[in-house]
Amino acid sequence: MADERVLLRQLQQWLTLRRQLLGPRAYVEMPQSSVPQETPQPGMPSSSPTPAHALGADHLLPRRDLPRVRMPEIRAEADLFSTLPAWQQSRSLEELYEHIHTCTACPLGLTRTNFVFGTGNPRAEIVVVGEAPGAEEDARGEPFVGAAGQLLTRMLQAIGLQREEVYICNILKCRPPNNRRPTPQEVATCRPYLWKQLELIQPAFILALGATAAAALLEREERISQLRGRPIPLQGMIMVVTYHPAALLRNPQWKRPAWEDLQLLRRLYDAYRQQAQQ
Ligand code: SF4
Repeated sequence: MADERVLLRQLQQWLTLRRQLLGPRAYVEMPQSSVPQETPQPGMPSSSPTPAHALGADHLLPRRDLPRVRMPEIRAEADLFSTLPAWQQSRSLEELYEHIHTCTACPLGLTRTNFVFGTGNPRAEIVVVGEAPGAEEDARGEPFVGAAGQLLTRMLQAIGLQREEVYICNILKCRPPNNRRPTPQEVATCRPYLWKQLELIQPAFILALGATAAAALLEREERISQLRGRPIPLQGMIMVVTYHPAALLRNPQWKRPAWEDLQLLRRLYDAYRQQAQQ
């Protein structure tokens, strides 16, 4: 038993090191100039799908016939030791919710009003990931239901998507007091729950709202100006990063670049669906 624990610790250290060494290489640069730009027309989704090769992204698009998201570190442990906790063995979002909705693994579990799991299509091709629940979300137990949530709904509608078509969740499931930024420790503690959600949903695309959400998924800090405007491969999916709706409410001058990000997501999504039908 003691040997197993030592081996497990060594494996975890190796996997952490491997992720640190290989993680950044998974980040494929795509020059902004290679992404076709369109004139913003709010409320008007792209009508004709752009072929993937025209986007310069055909080699990046997820494959519908291959499993995409896995929890690599945890799966490696499972394969070796079969010691997965019950929540990691969940086979549905409902089962996962039942396992984790009373979580107090970090201090936020003691101050939340409601656990905010996520809502939407459990088979969504697009998962929208924000940072953490705000006051309204904490009160109602649902993500993106305040003013920022209403803007998110309009942003999705502008590219021809309804909220019910996508899945919406946050990195953190509990509200940080006074909407403060989550600590790295809180992010690291809660992030595996998000990866399990993604593993169960198997989306092709992530729309990351804000640099904090993107950084949590990429496991490294980067400015949003360096992240937005291009497709970022992530665990077999494509991530598009844009501004958080709450930031857009405070900075309306960012709405135009956000619109361009949304159009990019729509074009990639159309190209992916077109490719999948061939
Ligand atoms: S934020 Fe996440 S890790 Fe922290 S208590 Fe809530 S569910 Fe658990």
